[in-house]
Amino acid sequence: MEWGAVRLLLALLLLPAWAAADTVLAATSRVGTDVLLLGAATAERTPQRACTAEVLARHQQVLHVPAPAGGWSGEPQAVDVFGVLAGEVRISHGDRQICGSMHDARTRDSRFRAGVGMVVVPAAGDHEPIVVSWAAPIKPRWIPTVQLGAPSPVQQDDTARLLVRAACVAVAIALALSALMGYVTTKDRSFLIYVAICLLLVLWQAVLGGLSGYPEPWLPVENRASWWLVSLSALTEAVLLPVLWRLCGGDRRWPRSRPAQHVLMWGLFALGLGVPWMRFAMLPGVAAGLEAVFVLGCVACLAAGSWGVLHRDRYALAGLSALAPWWIMIIADALHAQWLVAYRIESLQLAVTWFLMMAAYALNLRLGRLRQQRDALRQLADTDALTGLPNRRAGLRKLAQYLERAVQDEQPLAIGFLDIDLFKDINDQFGHAVGDQVLVAVARQLRDSVRNHDDVIRMGGEEFLVLLPGASRASAFARLETVRQQVQAVTRVLAVPGLEVSGSIGLAVLRGDGDDLASLLRRADHAMYCAKRAGRNQVFDADQTAPADAPLHV
Ligand code: GH3
Ligand code: MG
Ligand code: MG
Repeated sequence: MEWGAVRLLLALLLLPAWAAADTVLAATSRVGTDVLLLGAATAERTPQRACTAEVLARHQQVLHVPAPAGGWSGEPQAVDVFGVLAGEVRISHGDRQICGSMHDARTRDSRFRAGVGMVVVPAAGDHEPIVVSWAAPIKPRWIPTVQLGAPSPVQQDDTARLLVRAACVAVAIALALSALMGYVTTKDRSFLIYVAICLLLVLWQAVLGGLSGYPEPWLPVENRASWWLVSLSALTEAVLLPVLWRLCGGDRRWPRSRPAQHVLMWGLFALGLGVPWMRFAMLPGVAAGLEAVFVLGCVACLAAGSWGVLHRDRYALAGLSALAPWWIMIIADALHAQWLVAYRIESLQLAVTWFLMMAAYALNLRLGRLRQQRDALRQLADTDALTGLPNRRAGLRKLAQYLERAVQDEQPLAIGFLDIDLFKDINDQFGHAVGDQVLVAVARQLRDSVRNHDDVIRMGGEEFLVLLPGASRASAFARLETVRQQVQAVTRVLAVPGLEVSGSIGLAVLRGDGDDLASLLRRADHAMYCAKRAGRNQVFDADQTAPADAPLHV
């Protein structure tokens, strides 16, 4: 388990080291020069997409950007087109024209990355309009935006959009990596589901933002962009809606909604996987249906989240905040807000990033809760229910740790094995309930007489073990003598007429000759037995000579 994490870490550490070494080598190979020249002169022509008649025949929407009154100024004009997610854009002026799609960075003007853009320089006084055309969008409200202006600010805006798009993808990848490490350390399956969701959303963002073609096309999106878009919309909805529903507490409040969730999820998955085989004419209808389902899902999640928040469900708050950006967009769309039309892709990507962050937060909350439950269970499994002392299992574990440390550090270690005298008689005479009271009172006295409360263990029945790490034989004997007196003091504490409580204690000290846990315990037990033989209510050292075989009075 740990190895996986270590190897991943090593790889991550070695990567920059390798890159740095490469840079140093490259630099030193040209020692004596003040500059590093990369690349070589090329005879290669920049690939240009031909504006084929076939492509142009599909262009149903045309925009004529007229020259200002008095004609163009003669200064360069940048035209940048955003939001044409599928098909090609054509920008033309005079005999200059450019065709490009969002998903093929190689064939586009490299000064424009988020949109398809071109810089034209109309002659001063020229009145010919700039003509932009594209195919009709498959989603009715996803209106393309054409930005006109001086090259510098237009390109800056374009670059800012690209940065937001790339940053959102980078955040999703970073969250996926961190969840992967979470899985390696916890083996909790929900981390893997989170990683899968992150990767799906990375794909969706890459198609939305045109990053599928940047810097080189790495997804075969170009001519199939409409299919990719609709398919990924269905797949992302299949994970977004159930996760939002769960985050908003819908699943906890209405567990009966689970079959409906499964039908929706698998239905959307099947639809998403079936889209590539659909005819183009079907895509707009499917896209509209998906949008309607998503809005309905958001309404249901809002209702569940609001109900949860009103009932003090703090997880629902994370769900509502994950939902907030989607609601802002739904309302902005209804109001035909211009910012949403202009920055739809960036808005969607930011909403997805926010959703992933909230889901990571909820995952951590869940993990924290699981840890608490696990700690509580472990505590329960290690504790004796009657006295609250560590039980035999936990005690032996602790003793093994002390033993290992004592051997390593060459420090003394002593243990005292205590057995309450004639406890059976106490039960018989005073009843089991009083017997229990005696056990609880003895446990309390013992706990008060040692420094570390975890060093007193109930081994079972009326037998206790006292661990004395670092105590020499003499000091251990003295401390166990105090313990014995404390046990006797239970008689006074309980003040049950006729009840007398005492204990016999066997002391064993770790030997330096390869002594082990079993033999230490055996000697302490034997010493306790000797203490019983010697008349009970006393401390007996295992290395003392055994008492004469006196009969054991029961
Ligand atoms: P000795 O001095 O030789 O140790 O005599 P003893 O009577 O203490 O020895 P024995 O081991 O025969 O008796 C232990 C008794 O402890 C028997 C069992 O019923 C009782 N016992 C074990 N666990 C509990 C418990 O949780 N509560 C109560 N009340 N009694 C318990
Ligand atoms: Mg006993
Ligand atoms: Mg006993």
